[in-house]
Amino acid sequence: MQDCLFCRIASGAIPAPRLHEDARCIAIADIAPKAPVHLLVIPIEHIASASGVDEAREGLAGHLVRVAADLARERGLEAGGYRLVLNHGPQAGQTVFHLHLHLLGGRDLGAMG
Ligand code: AMP
Ligand code: ZN
Repeated sequence: MQDCLFCRIASGAIPAPRLHEDARCIAIADIAPKAPVHLLVIPIEHIASASGVDEAREGLAGHLVRVAADLARERGLEAGGYRLVLNHGPQAGQTVFHLHLHLLGGRDLGAMG
């Protein structure tokens, strides 16, 4: 989708250093980090949000989690802990309508709420 920011980043039309790249997803640093480590794992395919993860894409969703967990381990977050977040819709504050998994860590993230 030409007007989608993360499609443009995934295609390379907008440059962003890739911290991971494979046939199904990329990972980049969040431009406004909320924690010392704040990465986004982004599927190359345009999927608007978690609600677009249908049966055909559930394997892709698992892949995003595995890549995020690998990145967390590589960054030494395994022992201290980290958070994976998928936002959907206005009350969750979703601002980019292309599925992306946030990886947050490197500080005490507190309880959810
Ligand atoms: P969400 O609220 O889940 O839609 O989160 C969107 C995230 O994308 C926010 O944390 C933004 O800081 C981040 N973001 C927006 N534009 C860019 C960009 N060009 N490169 C990296 N991250 C971005
Ligand atoms: Zn997109």
